[in-house]
Amino acid sequence: MALLDTLEQGLRDIDARGLRRRRRTADTPCSAHMQVDGRATIGFASNDYLGLAAHPQLVAAIAEGAQRYGAGSGGSHLLGGHSRAHAQLEDDLAAFAGTFVDAPRALYFSTGYMANLAVLTALAGRGTTIFSDALNHASLIDGARLSRADIQIYPHADMAALAAMLEASDASAKVIVSDTVFSMDGDVAPLARLVELAEKHGAWLVVDDAHGFGVLGPQGRGALAQAALRSEHLVMVGTLGKAAGVSGAFICAHGTVIEWLVQRARPYIFTTASSPAVAHAVSASLRLIEREEGDARRAHLKHLIGRTRSLLIDTCWQPVDSHTAVQPLVIGANEATLALQATLERDGLWVPAIRPPTVPEGTSRLRISLSAAHSDADLDRLNASLQRASLEAREFAQ
Ligand SMILES: *Cc1c(COP(=O)(O)O)cnc(C)c1O
Repeated sequence: MALLDTLEQGLRDIDARGLRRRRRTADTPCSAHMQVDGRATIGFASNDYLGLAAHPQLVAAIAEGAQRYGAGSGGSHLLGGHSRAHAQLEDDLAAFAGTFVDAPRALYFSTGYMANLAVLTALAGRGTTIFSDALNHASLIDGARLSRADIQIYPHADMAALAAMLEASDASAKVIVSDTVFSMDGDVAPLARLVELAEKHGAWLVVDDAHGFGVLGPQGRGALAQAALRSEHLVMVGTLGKAAGVSGAFICAHGTVIEWLVQRARPYIFTTASSPAVAHAVSASLRLIEREEGDARRAHLKHLIGRTRSLLIDTCWQPVDSHTAVQPLVIGANEATLALQATLERDGLWVPAIRPPTVPEGTSRLRISLSAAHSDADLDRLNASLQRASLEAREFAQ
């Protein structure tokens, strides 16, 4: 029992620090209005930015893909599990997202977490230095650690600091890695400057566009297309469970990079290929994203982002200057953040509290995620509840 006692003590510590995480169970599809833990809720927790997760055409595409290719892939991509649905999706993704490089190819993964482990372990090893933004996603941090490269962390988006580190480095190989849209702050990395630095120092530049793909750029092609960047140094990771509404991820780069990954990326090689039905549905999602339906959803999302920015300024808490669908409201202390989350929950609103280690100590926040599935009336509900809680907090403080 000593083993269990150790864990139970650890769990009590987590409770004492206000860090216990609890899962909510949804009985209905991911959308603005959901049944969660048996209660009707307006959800501001998903990354379903375009509101496609429950789209009837994608539901139908999964069914059609299963009819055509079966339920399971049966094997890894290199040993029999690579289906026509995966191959077609990779061609579709390269054509759609590969605007930043000549001869683009794409490689499909089951999850973004694995894609990030794959790209960093395949491009970096002993003797490499990885230069990593301080606010990068956990999967990039883990990929960097697994690669056994030296890791240098530069202050968030600080290009002068990064330039100095690159200048001072005598590593034989260099990889710069950054989120495009930072997942807990919603700000966008200085991508043009990152490309300049990568080219100047002969470094790879790996960008994780999990929160940009489908939302930013012409037809939702992502943050690199939005910034109209082109470089052979660029390696893009995009995820397909957020704006694309299904699941999986991809790496897009020059064909030679992708061939290297097929040969060398262990998180690609040693795992069963995802269901071909899912890949088939992602191809259908790309068609929605790039056409008028996608444009209309992006326009509505943009409207909601603008409204939310002006609503959050009127609370007593600290909004983050974000122009993306991630709209954080920094409260500070863990307990206060949890209390506000609970207040909103009583009003039928599900807005998750984000606490350390996901964000730095003392910057716990509500992470309001907007989706094209939200209506103006949904935002009105959120606003009314936040303003009421803000008034109470101000009175309490006096
Ligand atoms: C969500 C996310 C991932 C992981 O993608 P999954 O497909 O959910 O595994 C990677 N990077 C960033 C920045 C993310 O937000």
